[in-house]
Formats: sequence, structure tokens, C-alpha cells
Amino acid sequence: MEKREEIYKGKAKSVHRTDDPDLFVMHYRNDTSAFDGTKVEKLADKGRVNNIFNAFIMQKLAAAGIKSHFVKVLSDNDSLVKKLQMIPVECVVRNLAAGSICRRYGIAEGTEINPPTFEFFLKSDALHDPMINDYHIISFGWATQSQIVAMKELTFRVNEVLKQLFANAGMLLVDYKLEFGMYKGELMLGDEFSPDGCRIWDKATRKKLDKDRFRQDLGNVIEAYKEVGERLGIDFSILSD
Ligand code: C5P
Repeated sequence: MEKREEIYKGKAKSVHRTDDPDLFVMHYRNDTSAFDGTKVEKLADKGRVNNIFNAFIMQKLAAAGIKSHFVKVLSDNDSLVKKLQMIPVECVVRNLAAGSICRRYGIAEGTEINPPTFEFFLKSDALHDPMINDYHIISFGWATQSQIVAMKELTFRVNEVLKQLFANAGMLLVDYKLEFGMYKGELMLGDEFSPDGCRIWDKATRKKLDKDRFRQDLGNVIEAYKEVGERLGIDFSILSD
């Protein structure tokens, strides 16, 4: 497999073509961004940590029967993925209140959300990822009714698997964002699952162990990402020098 030119550069990852038209290389960079790309910094080792973290989570999901674009880790910062036709919506599930739902509805941070809630957002930095509903998605052609049903079902199935995984390691999965795409007619999970796109708190102390440490200038961002991974059993030394 040959890694070829970059065809897309996101805020934290880049996508490269390969010699196989069905496969891409996803390159995890150290760039870290928040607030629609208005706060940007390079955090040493972030790309490698998220690449390995994501691989671990995607393998856990695959074992639970949840398909994703992830194929295999290629190097510290690169993974091989299936080429998906991405659906331009973000799927968010929340188990505890944090972030935008607190601001939007005046809910206190940490309030349990029972049953967990689901929200769709349009993937658009220029529009600040506005919240959208099923009707918008269908009327504007962002996805079909059956894709909506499948995205909700899969996002909640991910919750059952990962809530338990984090709970077993003394952590709370507060919320997370997933993105989906189509591969040869089949809907599957794309993008990544790492502490960049979810909130994870220590169960006992409620210490934040995710990108809120970057958003809120709490420090030790990558140390926290590594702590989460190590508590889940990830060995971050495997691919490094
Ligand atoms: O900002 P908000 O509270 O709506 O975010 C909910 C969850 O989705 C958080 O875990 C956040 O990190 C994630 N998210 C993301 N990318 C976005 C928006 C939210 O990863 N563009």
C-alpha cells in the first residue's frame, strides 16, 4: 500500500489517497483546535496518542459488531481507513450535561441525562455547526430517513459499549460526537473516537480528562488523554521510538 498525496486537510487530521481507490490514509496531526477553529495550538504527541487511542476504540466497537472505516494502524500518526462518502452531520449522545447543552437550556454541568439524549448538528465551521433536526436533514438532502435511523441506532449502540468500557476503568463517558459515511452502500462509522471528540471524567473526582482541558486552559491535555488510554489498557509505547 502506497501513501500518496493529501486530498483533504481538516483541523486535526489529513486524508491521503493511496494506490487503492477504496482506501485512504488518515494522518493524525498535533494540531488541536476549539471554538470552530478560532483557538489553535500544536500539542506535542497528540497525533500519535489519538491515532493509537482511536484504533483501540474502533477495535472494541468492531468486536461488538459495530463497523467503522478503520482498517489498521500503519505508523505512529497514520491509519489505513476505508474511503467513505461522508454524511455532513454530527451525531452527539449525552449521558451527563456539559458544554453546549448547559448553555442552551440552562442545565447545570454534571446533571444526569436519563435517558441519554441525541442531537444532530450540521458539520459547518462557517455556520458554527448549528443544531438541526431530522426534517432539516431530509428536506435539505444531507441524509435519507433510513440513514437517520441507522445513525441514531449505531450512535446509541456505541454508547452501550463505551459507557461500560469507561465505567470499568473508573471513568464517566459524559458525551461524544460521531460521524458516519457510506462504503459500497453500507453505512459505517467514520472520523475518529478520541478525547478530542468526547468528554470523559474521572468517576470519583469528576476531573476532566478530555479536550475541555484545552478549551478551558486547564493544562496537561495530552497527559490526560494518555491517562484515559492507559486506564483502558492501551500501551502507547508500542509504536513509538
Ligand atoms: O460542544 P458540545 O457540548 O455540543 O459537544 C458535545 C460533544 O461533541 C463533546 O464531546 C465535543 O467534544 C464533541 N464535539 C466534537 N466536534 C464538534 C462539536 C462537538 O467533537 N464539532
